[in-house]
Amino acid sequence: MATDWKSTFQKQDAIWIHDNKPARPHALLTSGLHSNGFVNCSLVTQDAALLKTIVSGPDGLAPRLLDKPDWVIGSALGAVTFAYAVALQLGANAGFTEKDGEAMKLARFEVKPGQKILVVEDTISTGGSTLKTIEGIQKAGVPAENILPYIVCLVNRSGSSSLGGRELRALLTLDIHNWAADDCPLCKMGSQVVRPKANWAALTGAYA
Ligand SMILES: [Zn+2]
Repeated sequence: MATDWKSTFQKQDAIWIHDNKPARPHALLTSGLHSNGFVNCSLVTQDAALLKTIVSGPDGLAPRLLDKPDWVIGSALGAVTFAYAVALQLGANAGFTEKDGEAMKLARFEVKPGQKILVVEDTISTGGSTLKTIEGIQKAGVPAENILPYIVCLVNRSGSSSLGGRELRALLTLDIHNWAADDCPLCKMGSQVVRPKANWAALTGAYA
C-alpha cells in the first residue's frame, strides 16, 4: 500500500490544516496574512530515518529523481538537510545558498563549468526563496540551462505545478490558502486568528 505522506507529516506534527469549523482558530503568519494551514518541515527532516525513507523509498521521491546532477542545492537553513539527503541518494555534491541581504548567494561552493544542478526546497509557499536561490546560483556563474528544469520539494503549498518555468515535483501537495485580514473567510465565519507555533494545541487538538 502506498504511504499516506499527509498523515505521516501530521504524525510528526509538521502540518496543520483548518477543519472549517468556526470554533477552531486559524493561523496568523509572520507576513501578517491569515492562513488555513501551516507547515513546519523541520519536524520531518530532523527525523533522519524518516527523511531517508522519503528520499529513497519506492513511493517517496526516488521515482522523481531520475537524473544524475553533479550538485543538489537548497536554501539555508530550511533545505540544508533535505539537500544533503537527496545528494546522498543521487551520489551528488550537496550545497546551499545563504542569505545576502534580500538575496540568496552561493558562497561556499564552487560549481565547475558544465556541472548540472538540481534545486530542492523543503516547503514551497510563494516560492520566493527558491527563486532567489536559482538567481544566486546563476550569479555564481552557472548558466540557466545547467540547472535542471524541475525543483524537488517536500511540500508544495503554492497552488501551482511550476515555479519560474520549472516543474515542481513534490512529495506532498497541500491545498492551503493565505488571505489579507480583510478578505479572510475564516475571520468572517468567526474563527479566531492566532500565532500558530504558540497555539499549536488549539490548532491541532480536541475542542475544549
Ligand atoms: Zn482570518
